[in-house]
Amino acid sequence: AGTVKNVCVVGAGYVGGPTAAVLALYNPSITVEVLDRDSNRIGRWQSPHLPVHEPDLDRIVRVARDGAEIRSVDAIPAAVKRGGNLVFTTDSVRSISQADIVFLAVNTPTKTFGVGAGRATNMTATDAAVQEIARHAKPGAIIVEKSTVPCGTAQRVRQILATVRPGVPFEVLSNPEFLSEGSAVENLTHPDRVLIGSSGTPAGRRAARMLANLYTSWVPVSRILEINTSSSELAKLVANAMLAQRISSINSISAICERTGADVDQISAAIGRDARIGPKFLKSGLGFGGSCFRKDISSLAYLAESLGLEEVAHYWRQVNSMNVYQRDRFSRKVIDRFNGNLVGRKLAVLGFAFKKNTGDTRESLAVDVIRSLLEERPAELAIFDPFCREEDILRELEPICGVDNALLPRMCSVKVHPDVYSACSQADAVLLLTDSDQFKSSQNKTFPKKEPEPVPTQIASPSEDAVALYEETYVSSRGITYHLTPQAPCGAECAECRAQSNRPVATEPVEWT
Ligand code: NAD
Repeated sequence: AGTVKNVCVVGAGYVGGPTAAVLALYNPSITVEVLDRDSNRIGRWQSPHLPVHEPDLDRIVRVARDGAEIRSVDAIPAAVKRGGNLVFTTDSVRSISQADIVFLAVNTPTKTFGVGAGRATNMTATDAAVQEIARHAKPGAIIVEKSTVPCGTAQRVRQILATVRPGVPFEVLSNPEFLSEGSAVENLTHPDRVLIGSSGTPAGRRAARMLANLYTSWVPVSRILEINTSSSELAKLVANAMLAQRISSINSISAICERTGADVDQISAAIGRDARIGPKFLKSGLGFGGSCFRKDISSLAYLAESLGLEEVAHYWRQVNSMNVYQRDRFSRKVIDRFNGNLVGRKLAVLGFAFKKNTGDTRESLAVDVIRSLLEERPAELAIFDPFCREEDILRELEPICGVDNALLPRMCSVKVHPDVYSACSQADAVLLLTDSDQFKSSQNKTFPKKEPEPVPTQIASPSEDAVALYEETYVSSRGITYHLTPQAPCGAECAECRAQSNRPVATEPVEWT
């Protein structure tokens, strides 16, 4: 790819790690180094147990990092044997100083303090990384914003570079990432488009072409769009805002459906056939979680607010408000089904990551649901997620539960279970908070079951014990199916209450084995 020999990706997170792995995979003649100040995270990227769970990622990392021989993965149809060109490191000086292209893939969370708290983007990590790059990058290096940043950040980066290294030429490009967790490898290997924003000057265009050359190793040229940096930065925020807006829109309709007897899935199927609307992102559910949608909408609204466009800001904030409403409605429903009394109950929470196929627990909606349910003092909240580590779950819950449940009343506990069976055993309700295939499939063989322990019989025969009522409410990008025991003190099981309910009540139990 032109004269590029070394690439440095700053930030070994959910974006930096997979992006670097795919770049390295398709550009075997270039060394791709992933730099992070978190040595623990780097250690995990260097180990067989990667810090990020994504389908196919471990195989790609093995090839690119270790130079392993592999037969084929979707991304590499032929058998290949090659040397490793993907390196994980904490050595910022060496890694940055030898790079021709430096990607910024650090975290850009919402600010929690000072001006714009709760709305603006916290640029601390970005600024620190840019300072480090400015100190060590070689003259002529290309700095690429991979992180999602506020519109105008390229200018901010240029200013830092000019202050720290006056007179030294650098080019700044915007190249936002559109991958979606849970399908990161598929999205990276078959992107709908690659955006490259440049200053538009001859040097900027040349830099954009050098970056484009890295991508054309596997992305058709027609999918690479060269635009200006502000458009590129803003396009990323707009893409996420529009996707989240579809979820909030359909969720608002689910509330109407529950009062009218209309079925939100049927509505989605009906409107999704309209080519102008399209079928994707129309599944009603618990709402959107994750580290991106909420913060990117806040960032877009804050931009509008700071431009004096209050109506525009209000419009986008409403997408986040609807999301909070939908999630609270769910918790409220569960509490109502127990006639407002969860004391002594065991509730199983299946799915803790913010969505299926990922172990990412950041901004998981499960945390908010658990917070609301704990206020009702249930005996146990039993959590299971096939991809999340116990320590990650407990860390997310620490502000609510404390260490070892120290912040909870004595009668209450939160436990992370090693398998679905122990989580559901004796549960009064089973809440499905992600649409993991494992939770849907009766043929599931993938749960990490403790062998040789037999499946508890009460779960094997759910109609008798754990599940007497299987209610499919609105749904299903996020489950929102819950099951109540026959002993639930909720009138909904009796024929009279069922008749009062507009929603169909499925009496078929879920099969667990
Ligand atoms: P992350 O928190 O998983 O990773 C960021 C990493 O950067 C961390 O490991 C952190 O230690 C490291 N870091 C921070 N400052 C550093 C510095 N000065 N030097 C070296 N390392 C530093 O974040 P992420 O989910 O990978 O997101 C990164 C960016 O990509 C964000 O702007 C996010 O909005 C955007 N994005 C995320 C996704 C997603 O699905 N996660 C998708 C598209 C875009």
